[in-house]
Amino acid sequence: MSFTIYRAKYYIDVLTDSSLSFMVSSQEQSVFKYIEDHRDQMIRYLQSLVKVDTQTPPGLNYDTICDIMANRFNELNCETSIHEATEKYMNLSGATHMGLEGPRSNVVAIYKGHSDGPTLHISAHTDCAAIQEEGWTVDPLGGKVTTDTPYEKSIHDKGGGYIWGRGVADDKGEVAALTLALAAIHELDIKMKGDLILTGNCDEEIGGVAGLGYLIKEGIVKADMGIQLDGGLSGIGLAAQGRTRFMVKTRGVSFHGQVPILGVNAIEKMSKLNVALTDYWRNVLLKRKVPVPGIDLGAALKEKGIDTLTAMLNIGTIKGGVQGATVPDLCEEEVLRGMVPGETFQEVYDEFKAVLDGVKATDAELEYELDVINFREGYVVEATDPYALSCQAMIQEATGMKLPFTGTLASTDMNYQVVDGGMPCVNFGVGGTYSRGHKQDENASIDEIIVCAKAVALIIMRKLR
Ligand SMILES: [Zn+2]
Repeated sequence: MSFTIYRAKYYIDVLTDSSLSFMVSSQEQSVFKYIEDHRDQMIRYLQSLVKVDTQTPPGLNYDTICDIMANRFNELNCETSIHEATEKYMNLSGATHMGLEGPRSNVVAIYKGHSDGPTLHISAHTDCAAIQEEGWTVDPLGGKVTTDTPYEKSIHDKGGGYIWGRGVADDKGEVAALTLALAAIHELDIKMKGDLILTGNCDEEIGGVAGLGYLIKEGIVKADMGIQLDGGLSGIGLAAQGRTRFMVKTRGVSFHGQVPILGVNAIEKMSKLNVALTDYWRNVLLKRKVPVPGIDLGAALKEKGIDTLTAMLNIGTIKGGVQGATVPDLCEEEVLRGMVPGETFQEVYDEFKAVLDGVKATDAELEYELDVINFREGYVVEATDPYALSCQAMIQEATGMKLPFTGTLASTDMNYQVVDGGMPCVNFGVGGTYSRGHKQDENASIDEIIVCAKAVALIIMRKLR
């Protein structure tokens, strides 16, 4: 097994990339001013997105949110199309296991450049995390605006207030930011050579297979460089792990629970597999590391001695049996395997199966079935990558802060841009611990959305000019 770090090709060589040495020009200042002056329009647009319930699973209403976005992109002179993932991608998503419903609609908008130049792809996702039934103090689909927050504040908050609801930080606030950035560029008639491709892709929260996975693997979106607008504005994400979600089942033979000697206990068999899986991850996977110099994985991992991307495994669910007095004939569980960049799905599958087969070889009565729900591979853009460094510099010019490069053991849709699309990419956006993403009372600082729009606009103008 080899552990390559993806060194994405980049279009503009660092030596000729003048963006590193530029100060914000008067034209760029006018774009920043437009963005500042249109914050109310941005808020109304974000509210219209938040009102569409796109929590996944099931992931309903993607067609509705795509229509809203397509209409706005059309007003801004984009060539806009909607792409529904095919049956194949629904199956690869694990649609039945996950209870997915409704069409997997994705919106693709192309803002054409005036001549030949590189293409920049900016992705944001239209789905959002589940809405808890209890514990919200505001309507999660309301988009309420307040002047202050009872929770933590954003580091970008200059008194501009907060907006509330599921997805305002993850990831509809990012959709609003990039739409405002494009509006400024279009309305002020900023000339650019290369094409800008914007995608509102679905299903990110559950692996993005029918969303950005579909758009990039099918060649619907091709670009020279990318932004995954799905992080926060306190760091720039360059690395993440992949994952494979397995479903494991053991089969036994039912019998009266007081005569278990005449049955085969499916839970006992699963316990044997779990002892082996636990040994495998603690003693084998934890030693499998991909170094990420210059990329910060955060204090919590450092305290556990983890400062590189490291393979892991989690036995996430287990269920089996009907009552204490019956030998269970079925046990099933979901196992998530965290993959370091460079590990392919096939390698991970074969190795996982070999662990289970190793146990089966010692027990003639052990019967198991292994299914894959879905997978997404990991990636690293190096901290020395010229594209990443130039984006870091431009984000600093727009926000006034030099954000550190970060990585995560979780995963994001940026893998499709880097691994499948072969483009250098950075991940930033709106939110952070303050914004309570995936929790009750998700919120976003309005000033932060505005400054995110400025950073996006600056990168678009400089990379495509
Ligand atoms: Zn997200």
